[in-house]
Amino acid sequence: MSLIGLIYTGSRAALDLARNAVAEAVATYGADKKVAFPGTAYALPVIYAATGSKITTLAELQGALEVADSLITGEEDLGKALNAGLATAVCAEVIEAVKYAVTEEPYTGDGGIGFVPDAVIRSLGVPLVTGDIPGIAVIVGETSDSGALAAIVKDYQEKGLLTFLVGNVVDQIAASDVKTGLEFRVIPVGREITAVIHVVSVAVRAALIFGALSPGDLAGLLAYTKERIPAFVNTFGPLDEITVAAGAGAIALGFPVIADVDVPEVPGALLAQKDHGQTVATSLEARGIKTKIKEIPIPVSFAAAFEGERIRRDNIHAEFGSRRSKAWELVKMRHADEVEDHKIEVIGPDIDAGEPPVYLPLAVLVEVAGKNMEEDFEPVLERKIHYFLNYMEGVMHVGQRNLAWIRIGKDAFAKGLRLRHFGEVLYAMMHEEFGSVVDKCQVTIITDKEKVLSLEQELALPSYLARDDRLASLTDESVDTFYTCTLCQSFAPAHVCVVTPERLGLCGAVSWLDAKATKELNPAGACQPIAKTGLVDERKGIWTEVNKAVEEHSQGAVSRVALYSILEDPMTSCGCFECICGTVPEGNGVIIVNREYVGTTPVGMTFGELASMTGGGVQTPGFMGHGRHFIPSNKFLAAEGGVARIIWMPKELKDAVAERLNKTAKEVYGIDNFADMICDETIATDVEAVVNFLAAKKHPALEMDPLV
Ligand code: SF4
Ligand code: ZN
Repeated sequence: MSLIGLIYTGSRAALDLARNAVAEAVATYGADKKVAFPGTAYALPVIYAATGSKITTLAELQGALEVADSLITGEEDLGKALNAGLATAVCAEVIEAVKYAVTEEPYTGDGGIGFVPDAVIRSLGVPLVTGDIPGIAVIVGETSDSGALAAIVKDYQEKGLLTFLVGNVVDQIAASDVKTGLEFRVIPVGREITAVIHVVSVAVRAALIFGALSPGDLAGLLAYTKERIPAFVNTFGPLDEITVAAGAGAIALGFPVIADVDVPEVPGALLAQKDHGQTVATSLEARGIKTKIKEIPIPVSFAAAFEGERIRRDNIHAEFGSRRSKAWELVKMRHADEVEDHKIEVIGPDIDAGEPPVYLPLAVLVEVAGKNMEEDFEPVLERKIHYFLNYMEGVMHVGQRNLAWIRIGKDAFAKGLRLRHFGEVLYAMMHEEFGSVVDKCQVTIITDKEKVLSLEQELALPSYLARDDRLASLTDESVDTFYTCTLCQSFAPAHVCVVTPERLGLCGAVSWLDAKATKELNPAGACQPIAKTGLVDERKGIWTEVNKAVEEHSQGAVSRVALYSILEDPMTSCGCFECICGTVPEGNGVIIVNREYVGTTPVGMTFGELASMTGGGVQTPGFMGHGRHFIPSNKFLAAEGGVARIIWMPKELKDAVAERLNKTAKEVYGIDNFADMICDETIATDVEAVVNFLAAKKHPALEMDPLV
């Protein structure tokens, strides 16, 4: 059969399956049975994005299938056949939605995760825009050569890609030694082909979340996924007609499909690559994905995918820091003649010195010199030690400064990992990532107890202290330059973050010092300086130069921004914000919710639902995405009266910011222990009870001018 014929046959088969699934569910549960995926504000995302309608019942699913039916025309035309591929996607979403309607957790025990919640997608925003995750691989099918499959997945993992597994490859990878899970960037989705829709749904929601795409704008959706979502599909094994039809859906979204069997090739869209040794290269080339290749002479893998790896207690070969010993790390700027490039020194016993588990104190001292290096960049470089060490397979790094805690696993030790390799990694990565400020770098690793402790007193602690003083003195008033950050424009084309000392980027990952360093590292890059001139309103945070910069960098989409207001020209949001702040008229204040909080809030919405109210680089008065660190600043909502407007936060967030928040409240309003006046989910989540709590606590918001 021709390719087009196969697509139509497959899409009709998918339609039949979907119709049967819905009919069966209706017969058992009735047409009014609720239909929803967990953890999303976008209903059935593929159908919602493509048609604009939010499906909530089995009866409405039947309507969606009529739309799918109309897309399967049978016309001998590849474009029309790709539409049938989209219809297959709709059918797959319907089939999966029925699973969720009739079973509480349909994927429990399946080995896959099924539907991916919005919060996960939002958390992927920054690594995708920075190229930390350079692409998305979707692996479908079943292979006769599971060794080759594992090697391919491992290769993607080491290149930093995010890999989704659908079909029997889920079991084949589970049986291999490839580490899986979101933290390892290898995600088993489900065993049935229809589970592939959960990956499509991720791409589609990225368009809704970051791209501010209007639901129903199918052409806009297809253009967005094609241009901005760097995904591709690898199929393994013979292709049945439904897989072919689903593949046509992927192609319609702009994702090339690379099969390992003979297929009629369509250049750039459908390719055959029977040599598994070439699958990765062919796929990356087809999607135009470039990966950073880091060749570091160490005996274990090195990849961002290992960042989240935990080393359990029974698997420890060596441990530094935590309860048993002291561990600290420090980056220091030195004169050029004080640094010998690539000098790596280990002072004290190495990890082969005794029987495991080996407990040792540790100091990691990275000294750098460079013409463009500044003391202000030391903490920016130092924070990266956490990531660089974590990227080693078999190494776990937690914390920072003199609260560092490191474990080395038994496997890594057996492969030959020693402390000198920490030095190799830090040396290579400081040059790789900070090349334009680091001309020379040397690393000293100390495990000699006396030396670790004495240098902590003489060198590390005074350095941390000096930095804390510098950070505390860094206020928006104390500098004459702010910075733009436009990294997220690859997903949210009109979004610009204005980064100031007190208002970090809304992702929480770009502080003013980071932005300043980024400008130095890449002068034409995402962070550009804004001269802080042309003051219009100090309380609201309006400057003509800021407006000009935002207008220029948003290509005219936004021309006025009040940095310290949520109601008047608030800063735009891209979608990857750490927290969302929204107004609550009943409480005359605002609530703040962090991404990690899964419960409901006093406005009756979850984080995901609140987050869906803003994003895509659009200004939405009354809603604002922001970083955690901004909350206790006296610039937070300064236009509306400041932090005293905060009436509710999840407890974890409240506890995290309480100390600084209390300090600000004391300084600005003379209030003691302000955090205790703020309600949280352990006290109340319905708005009436929240307001009663505020009244009992004499919360200052109740006395302030009406917010709206
Ligand atoms: Fe994106 Fe803003 Fe963070 Fe830059 S600072 S990465 S634009 S969220
Ligand atoms: Zn973003």
